[in-house]
Amino acid sequence: MPSGLDTADRTDASRRLFERASAAIPGGVNSPVRAFTSVGGTPRFLVSATGPWLTDADDRTYVDLVSSWGPMILGHAHPAVVDAVRAAAVHGLSFGAPTPAEVDLAEEIIGRVAPVEQVRLVNSGTEATMSAIRLARGITGRRVIVKFAGCYHGHVDALLAQAGSGVATLGLPTSPGVTGAQAADTVVLPYNDLDAVRAVFAERGDEIACVITEAAAGNMGAIAPRPGFNAGLREICHAAGALLVVDEVMTGFRVSPAGWFGLDGVAGDLYTFGKVMSGGLPAAAFGGSAAHMAHLAPAGPVYQAGTLSGNPVAVAAGLATLRHADAAVYAALDANAARLGGLIGDALRAAGVPHRVQLAGNLLSVFFTEDEVHDYAGAQAAATWRFPAFFHALLDRGVYAPPSAFEAWFVSAALNDDAWQAIADALPAAAQAAATATPPAEASQ
Ligand SMILES: *Cc1c(COP(=O)(O)O)cnc(C)c1O
Repeated sequence: MPSGLDTADRTDASRRLFERASAAIPGGVNSPVRAFTSVGGTPRFLVSATGPWLTDADDRTYVDLVSSWGPMILGHAHPAVVDAVRAAAVHGLSFGAPTPAEVDLAEEIIGRVAPVEQVRLVNSGTEATMSAIRLARGITGRRVIVKFAGCYHGHVDALLAQAGSGVATLGLPTSPGVTGAQAADTVVLPYNDLDAVRAVFAERGDEIACVITEAAAGNMGAIAPRPGFNAGLREICHAAGALLVVDEVMTGFRVSPAGWFGLDGVAGDLYTFGKVMSGGLPAAAFGGSAAHMAHLAPAGPVYQAGTLSGNPVAVAAGLATLRHADAAVYAALDANAARLGGLIGDALRAAGVPHRVQLAGNLLSVFFTEDEVHDYAGAQAAATWRFPAFFHALLDRGVYAPPSAFEAWFVSAALNDDAWQAIADALPAAAQAAATATPPAEASQ
């Protein structure tokens, strides 16, 4: 249950942990957005989670609207998933050899996403996109890749240019440590702009190995592809002998049983998956037609490997999650996203805050602007300075939203009456905080 307003300053344990963490771990965190850099304040150190609730080191509880950035569609510590993990663990943690269950998980994924005939399991979404790009280059014998500003595909060197997620949150153009050559082979275009894609293909079409796109953008806030955008990408790629890599790490198995493909039916050539498919443990995958995947070692010459790939415990968590994600779960995810968006919109409207709640499937985000947001420039043009006040007012009242204006909000199917009550109770004050926030002085940006 939410702890309520009276405990808003009870963060001593998290504060002490963050101090220790900052000495032992760069920035005190193992992934940048967790540090609360763009919203300020002390990141909460979490000790447990169940259903829709998180509990921190100060014994405060929060309604979770991040869901570990997507995976926890069933809510936390779902009994079926925990049981599956326990059962797998007692039989051994890793073998470095094939297992029966990894075949089950591969078949489960293939059975859901028609264009995917084979998958290779890896350990993170980053590895999936890195491997998919290597494969696209190996298949086509070309160097250049096209990505979209504000899309995030993990921290792959070639894909960090104008990336979303933490790169956007910290306002970085790209990253030191990425060589000129790696960056030079990446062309960055505005999202949802087919004319820009056509123009680049007209000039360099025979150099382009692939276009990589989020199936729907979720790492600059939730931005759905315009009608025809994904289909247009496919057409342009195929006319030039390039591959379309559809990154469904965020959308996959969340927005429908078949991910975004289940919503728009546009077949990509290669797919990447992560997050939901491993139920909260580290596993991810990339896949495509059998003919494309046959280029991978040991069947073909494109090398790709992993000591822990297909890890039996991670596979068990993923399988249990996907098998429990039935029609009722997907209906709940959609209904919960719509309900949350409605509540946020009502509160901001009542407080007179210009805003736009955008949904892409059941991904959701709040832009502090009246204009519909189609791309990264639009997301950046919004009044993101309102976000920290909104975020902290929610957090103080027991609602854990993503600590960045550029991240999507992720509902679970586990949101219950108590959780909705906590959200409804927190939103009016949060909307008021957003209304009274002041823009930064011009000199500071
Ligand atoms: C999260 C994400 C990734 C990276 O996955 P990791 O497991 O964090 O490496 C890649 N692509 C998209 C679309 C994502 O949302």
